[in-house]
Amino acid sequence: MKSDLRNELGESYEATLAEIAKRAQFYDLEGRFPTENMQLLHRNGLLAYCVRKEFGGLGAGPGGDVGLYGRIIEDVSAACSSTGQALAVHGTACAAINLLGSRDQIRRLSEEVVSEGAVYGFFGSEPTQRFTKDGGRPGYDAEVRRAPGGWIANGQKFFSTNSMGAKRFLFFAMSQADGEQGLAVPIIAVDAPGVKVHDTWDNIGQRATSSGAVDVKEVFVADEFMLGRPGAFSQVSPVLLSSFQLTFALELTGIARGGLDFTIDYLKNHTKAPAGLPTLGHDPHVQGRLGEMAVLVEATRAIVERAVQAVADADRDPTLAAIAHRRVLQAKIQASDAAIEVGTRLFQICGARATTRRAGADRFWRNARTLSLHDVVDKQRAAVGRDLLGLEGDMGHVLASDAQRTNAA
Ligand SMILES: Cc1cc2nc3c(=O)[nH]c(=O)nc-3n(C[C@H](O)[C@H](O)[C@H](O)COP(=O)(O)OP(=O)(O)OC[C@H]3O[C@@H](n4cnc5c(N)ncnc54)[C@H](O)[C@@H]3O)c2cc1C
Repeated sequence: MKSDLRNELGESYEATLAEIAKRAQFYDLEGRFPTENMQLLHRNGLLAYCVRKEFGGLGAGPGGDVGLYGRIIEDVSAACSSTGQALAVHGTACAAINLLGSRDQIRRLSEEVVSEGAVYGFFGSEPTQRFTKDGGRPGYDAEVRRAPGGWIANGQKFFSTNSMGAKRFLFFAMSQADGEQGLAVPIIAVDAPGVKVHDTWDNIGQRATSSGAVDVKEVFVADEFMLGRPGAFSQVSPVLLSSFQLTFALELTGIARGGLDFTIDYLKNHTKAPAGLPTLGHDPHVQGRLGEMAVLVEATRAIVERAVQAVADADRDPTLAAIAHRRVLQAKIQASDAAIEVGTRLFQICGARATTRRAGADRFWRNARTLSLHDVVDKQRAAVGRDLLGLEGDMGHVLASDAQRTNAA
């Protein structure tokens, strides 16, 4: 798959990944949006990975090439997991635009990504949010109301990835307008009057994702920036919801791969040879631990690859959506556990010297621990269990009831 990509994207693909990997520790320490990486991705056509081919992009993602989508997110996350998440969130926003937008909206918004390198945010989470016990979201406190020629948006968001680097963001809000009730998705410019981005992201992991808070106060959104009619997002292909969860499985797999790469490099280039051995890598105990880690990473890649394939199949045939969602949840659970595990085990292999701050080995565990909290994995485990027990019908039923709940709120 990798060589296919090299053919498709050119040698610059590998060079881009290598350059991003070189800056990963720097951005982790700085904890700021990885502007240079996003510009590099833009220069190499990768920022437009989810823009349709007809509008100058690579055509990856739901509604396009899901395999390419998976490969790019995993590879960039392996190089730098903050940049991988920034790119994945941006790609999810582009995919939502492709699935929900009018042809004119898709063309206009794609053009900004392709020519200017515009980055998108996808702002749903709110400090006031409450989830139902099975992980459903009963709705948002953010609101939109009708105004001449458009809408007025109000609300507070947090965990707003890309907020310091985005040009626009998708803003999830409820509409009670006559005949236009339901979940609305206006697209808002970060520099629009009434938008305030708080540069407050200083968490232990995914430190360069710029996932701070955003206030939206009486912001006017012209009709041409409303994505679909209110309620449409909840009915959009379930594949978008599955592919959204898939991005986390891919990012977490990337973190695990990055941890494995780090360990190999550390063993080859940075360890002191123990007495009687040419290098630490000649110790059979270390070799065994490394082999065990490599198998964990490869097993995770295999289950995630299977989920990528299932989402691609469901994209072509919506009757396969439940199978895809099941596989995505399984992959997400496995990738969450594996990334955290790799982040821990690498210290066992590399030793106490790897705890020096200069080595930066701790970022893999910090990033995995933080990103794996994006959605409550225990609820996802329970969803897989319920599905096996037939307690709530199949995954298709779970998806349908989620959509109905959100729509009805
Ligand atoms: C790095 C990062 C970036 C993110 N970026 C974005 C973004 O760009 N856009 C976006 O919309 N969101 C984003 N999120 C937010 C994410 O979607 C979640 O909303 C957020 O992680 C919720 O955090 P919380 O602490 O409020 O957790 P909660 O979900 O409230 O969970 C806190 C604890 O309560 C428990 N719990 C919660 N609800 C229940 C329940 N009903 N029953 C039983 N137990 C429960 C959980 O198990 C957990 O232990 C991001 C998250 C992270 C970590």
